Amino acid sequence: MSKLAQWLGNGPLITDGAWGTQLQALGLPLGAMPDAWNLEQPERVESVARLYAGAGSQVVLTNTFRANGITLAEAGLGAQLAEINRAGVEISRRGAAGRALVFASIGPTGKMLMEGDFTPEQFTEAFSVQAQALAAAGADALLIETMSDIEEAKLALAAAKPTGLPVIVSFAFDTGKNKDRTMMGSTPEMVAREMEAAGADAVGANCGAGVERFVPVCQRLKDACSLPVWIKANAGLPEMKDGTVTYGTSAEYFASHYAALMEAGASFLGGCCGTSPEFIRALCAARSQA
Ligand SMILES: [Zn+2]
Repeated sequence: MSKLAQWLGNGPLITDGAWGTQLQALGLPLGAMPDAWNLEQPERVESVARLYAGAGSQVVLTNTFRANGITLAEAGLGAQLAEINRAGVEISRRGAAGRALVFASIGPTGKMLMEGDFTPEQFTEAFSVQAQALAAAGADALLIETMSDIEEAKLALAAAKPTGLPVIVSFAFDTGKNKDRTMMGSTPEMVAREMEAAGADAVGANCGAGVERFVPVCQRLKDACSLPVWIKANAGLPEMKDGTVTYGTSAEYFASHYAALMEAGASFLGGCCGTSPEFIRALCAARSQA
């Protein structure tokens, strides 16, 4: 039995909520590189993982979303790549304290392959170095998340597979009237089929839209492949208020979609931008009432 199948043996797992917005609440300035805090403010980063595990998260992520060679080099942090990724896994492991699995986050490079500034080989190298660093630090699985481009996701997946860890690939469906396409125009069906064919262990949707949009997207991912589905919705769309970003959805409204998402086939359920430990507690409460 695969590791993912074992972990899901007792039913779907509740994951964590947002990291970026939680770190901002702890003082990370808007626009600063969150991943640098693994070295500068490890206690604050650890508190995020600890609060999620305490709230009932069975999976917590790592603060390594931007810790690939291309993004770090641009921020002048290329020399700290190995250290930032290692610290990210170790910090989440300490915060989880045996209560949750640690899945390591790998985000997009932020560059478009079609613009031609970087070659596919450079993307592969960036993802490969990060994936190896996260695996060496002891991550339980790798999560390639917030992807828009199927080609970039395939390069990341191919770079992550040689670690031998389960690899989940999750896309942001944030475009179109129903928010059911990625920025590059891919549908849930295209993503599910392509990721299954490329050897992903699970496929998912995160970020981009509020939770009500995720019910049909989850169902479409589930119907188009045989993989477990990973779901992390935003707490609604971001709004600027007095220089800070706020999200309109309450934890109760978010968690009121628990049953519909389970029915639509979610195997992992948590929150993306704007969600907090309160949202995870609400999801756990909804599960206990289901
Ligand atoms: Zn998000």
